[in-house]
Amino acid sequence: MKQNLFVYNTLTRQKEEFKPLNAPHVGMYVCGPTVYSDVHLGNCRTYISFDLIFRYLTHLGYKVRYVRNITDAGHLEGDAGDEGEDKISKKAKIAQLEPMEIVQKYTVDFHEVMSIFNTLPPSIEPTATGHIIEQIELVKQILAKGLAYEVDGSVYFDVEKYNSTTDYGILSGRNLEDMLNNTRDLGGQEQKRGKLDFALWIKAKPEHLMQWPSPWGMGFPGWHLECSAMSHKYLGEQFDIHGGGLDLVPTHHTNEIAQNVACCGKSPARYWIHTNMLTVNGQKMSKSLGNSFLPHELFTGDHSLLDKGYSPMTVRFFMLQAHYRSTLDFGNEAMEASEKGFKRLMASVALLDGLKQSATTDVDVELLSNRCYEALNDDFNSPVLIAELFEASRIINSVNDGKMKIDEVNLQRLKILVKTFVFDVLGLKDEQAANDDLPKLLSFIVSLRSEAKVNHDYATSDKIRQGLQQIGFQLKDSKEGTTWSKI
Ligand code: AMP
Ligand code: ZN
Repeated sequence: MKQNLFVYNTLTRQKEEFKPLNAPHVGMYVCGPTVYSDVHLGNCRTYISFDLIFRYLTHLGYKVRYVRNITDAGHLEGDAGDEGEDKISKKAKIAQLEPMEIVQKYTVDFHEVMSIFNTLPPSIEPTATGHIIEQIELVKQILAKGLAYEVDGSVYFDVEKYNSTTDYGILSGRNLEDMLNNTRDLGGQEQKRGKLDFALWIKAKPEHLMQWPSPWGMGFPGWHLECSAMSHKYLGEQFDIHGGGLDLVPTHHTNEIAQNVACCGKSPARYWIHTNMLTVNGQKMSKSLGNSFLPHELFTGDHSLLDKGYSPMTVRFFMLQAHYRSTLDFGNEAMEASEKGFKRLMASVALLDGLKQSATTDVDVELLSNRCYEALNDDFNSPVLIAELFEASRIINSVNDGKMKIDEVNLQRLKILVKTFVFDVLGLKDEQAANDDLPKLLSFIVSLRSEAKVNHDYATSDKIRQGLQQIGFQLKDSKEGTTWSKI
């Protein structure tokens, strides 16, 4: 199935067969979050989409090196411009904390959210501040190629000069004229030779909290530079996949390509994959528009736009029910439908192990299996895959009701197929089963404690009681035995 994977490449604006440069190895770089505030659900959609891609490539047998950075310096407020305060410094000043306290808090928070959504950690998670030396090196190389210039301690990329030999708008498909005519004045332009030039290195004012020495004086790197430097360091001059949200195409990724080509003569990634936006009433979910949900608000239902809360796996299922290149509009009705669908799918998965085999079969699992692979081989089309899994669910229910027969071979195939795609590839978890396991686990611990008491080992029995208390469970001893409750 490997050879049949097709992915949509933003660079060529078409679906292309996926051929890694160095199979079975695959290098994938995804732009990570700027850790200055809580990740919202839109950010989560992008990382859940790449988690599906990572999981499927791994399932196909590729050895994927997945690099996703943490932006902990250099991302200025305006996003596209070189003016404004560093997002992290600003937050640090307001909260009267060290910038690294802000970084730590929101990195931990991001990891927690990613884990709640059952996304796998990347292979390497480098930070911008951990790669200042590499970024300075890159600036030096671009300067040496004559494609950047220094003005009073800041260094800018010369877009028009670069574009005279290489197409600057190759990723967005826009030409320079067009860009020049349609770019609003972003501020911080005084020192620049051209309107589209962007900062590689920015001179720091004395009060700027995060600054480093460089050949051009004290300063900090431009936002786009970190991804060029870190993808180069961990994946080489050229690697297979570069990804991020679609909003990164016109500026961040366009500039990344320009930087890598300017320094090394090569476009960094062969396939550029972009995820579409999570919207609310048709508008991009974003913090600045005030329409963003935090994951925990969605889980608890504590938000004015929500009728009730939804479990993390319902949210993940909801996101995977849309193709990653389509916009996905958030709404109570759609969430409600996903909740029902997810429960229905999980209910049939739970029946799998108890299904009885027959001597004959009405089911051909190979056909179903081919259709599941075809779905994901067509640019990771998860909604089509989920539709096929509902077909599997229909079969499971029919076999369970005795309306269909399945033989041993097909039953084994069906179990493997469904569990592989539901758990390993889509990354869903059976939340009900996890809830059912807790009472079993606690009963087991309580029985160990009772055993210790019978053996007069009161030290152990007290340790267990106190340990459970610390994590929120209270034990109550009575003549009938020991019961537990949540504190
Ligand atoms: P940031 O922390 O702002 O750099 O964003 C982290 C990632 O989330 C980027 O890849 C963005 O493209 C992506 N992103 C931001 N808003 C949304 C949204 N509403 N839907 C999907 N992805 C988003
Ligand atoms: Zn990036």
